[in-house]
Amino acid sequence: MSETTNLNIAVVGGGPGGYAAAFLAADLGMTVTLIDPEVNPGGVCLYRGCIPSKALLHVAKLVEESHQAKDWGIEFAAPKINLARLRSWKEGVVKKLTGGLGILSKQRKVRYVQGRAEFENSTTLRVTKTDGAEEVLSFDRIIIATGSRPAIVPSLKLDTPRMMDSTGALNLEDIPGSLLVVGGGYIGLELGSVYAALGTRVTVVEMLSGLLPGADRDLVLPLHKRLEKMFEGILLNTTVAAVQDEGTGIRATFEGADVGVSEAKPHEKVFDRVLVSVGRKPNSEIAGLEKTQVQVGQRGFIQVNKQLQTDDLAVYAIGDVVGEPMLAHKAMHEGRTAVEAIAGHKVAFEPNAIPAVVFTDPEVAWCGLTETQAQNENREIKVAKFPWAASGRAITLDRPEGMTKLLIDPQTERVLGVGIVGVGAGELIAEGVLAVEMAALARDVAMTIHPHPTLSETVMESAEVFFGTSTDIYRPKRG
Ligand SMILES: Cc1cc2nc3c(=O)[nH]c(=O)nc-3n(C[C@H](O)[C@H](O)[C@H](O)COP(=O)(O)OP(=O)(O)OC[C@H]3O[C@@H](n4cnc5c(N)ncnc54)[C@H](O)[C@@H]3O)c2cc1C
Repeated sequence: MSETTNLNIAVVGGGPGGYAAAFLAADLGMTVTLIDPEVNPGGVCLYRGCIPSKALLHVAKLVEESHQAKDWGIEFAAPKINLARLRSWKEGVVKKLTGGLGILSKQRKVRYVQGRAEFENSTTLRVTKTDGAEEVLSFDRIIIATGSRPAIVPSLKLDTPRMMDSTGALNLEDIPGSLLVVGGGYIGLELGSVYAALGTRVTVVEMLSGLLPGADRDLVLPLHKRLEKMFEGILLNTTVAAVQDEGTGIRATFEGADVGVSEAKPHEKVFDRVLVSVGRKPNSEIAGLEKTQVQVGQRGFIQVNKQLQTDDLAVYAIGDVVGEPMLAHKAMHEGRTAVEAIAGHKVAFEPNAIPAVVFTDPEVAWCGLTETQAQNENREIKVAKFPWAASGRAITLDRPEGMTKLLIDPQTERVLGVGIVGVGAGELIAEGVLAVEMAALARDVAMTIHPHPTLSETVMESAEVFFGTSTDIYRPKRG
């Protein structure tokens, strides 16, 4: 296919999908305009998502580790928290990274317009700039990368700063005495962990029967056990039926089969703050979109093909606005694929493994096929698990609760999926992604020399477990 690079393209939304697309388009020689309301690119991920939450989780881990150090003969005094300083450090991290993206835009000669875009037609945008000025601009192609926002539950809407979404929670206005987290997904657990480490009594309510719905239960268990110690309560199979502002706190009323059976499962309770983290909604209600051929599906996601092209041939869409998983690295890869498709390269977005990482302590990470998915699809697989209690490195860290597992096709012995729970699982999973994408066999992973003593050895030893020959555990192969 021939390459078309002398195009004039617009990217609407400056999140990870948008800036990755804009930068690649510029690198390929296209004329690029990137439009976003913020002063610099970054989107949800950098301003109110991945980055500020990970900065705070780093602090939370340090606090938790300082408590555990007592077991190793090192005792620290209780931490004194200077909230203003912590907040400004987190904001500094965001500013450094978003400022860096601003510089990268300039270096690549991407025209960054601070404002909001609406469609006049498939190739024309009206941009209302932050300073109030308007500009009407025409392009050869437009990439929509408008992302997502926190989902709102109408029954949990109260006009008080005590009710927060993830953005409010990241602002860290104060350290509340008590916090109710509605939703046991990754955002609720990550932010709940931050507040718990800072000294808040945290209660998590999850409507389903387990935390992190969607993740394999054996990966969630070690996290659940540790969170039970960190949090005041974890209420499963429970919903928050109503919230009431009592001035000095929010009274939450719970519903669920076992609500009220014990003191730990109350009918209602008053909290200083409530964080509602029940999922995210795509930002597909873009003004003027009806003037194009772009189609929006039932769940609000913009419909695209494998080249990220919408039903309107001049319009592409990427990132959270086109579907799950709503993750920054998925958005970035889609952005790059869309630009390559526009440039005329023969590409498709069809990954075998998009990693998911929950940055709690321990971290939970997985990629490719999950055991839950294999069961639902009635798919025959072999699961090889290596418990970290047998890992030298895990023992030196005093964190033996982790586990690494490989999901293997019994016929071809190909690695189809990887799951890890333990400290640093988010870093370790990258090897799993490579194994799945490169169609590695269990033998390839077992024969790859891993450095000792590291947690990465657990990936290699899981493959050895598959053959019944793991050095560090005795588990002969059966049948
Ligand atoms: C608390 C939290 C923690 C998270 N942690 C992680 C994590 O650790 N790892 C991970 O992978 N993901 C994480 N995510 C998810 C991640 O932030 C998103 O998946 C990612 O930001 C999606 O990128 P995007 O490019 O699709 O859009 P976004 O980042 O949502 O950016 C879209 C941008 O478009 C702008 N926009 C919208 N409409 C218009 C318009 N009409 N004109 C111009 N601009 C417009 C928006 O203002 C926004 O700046 C987290 C999210 C949250 C909330």
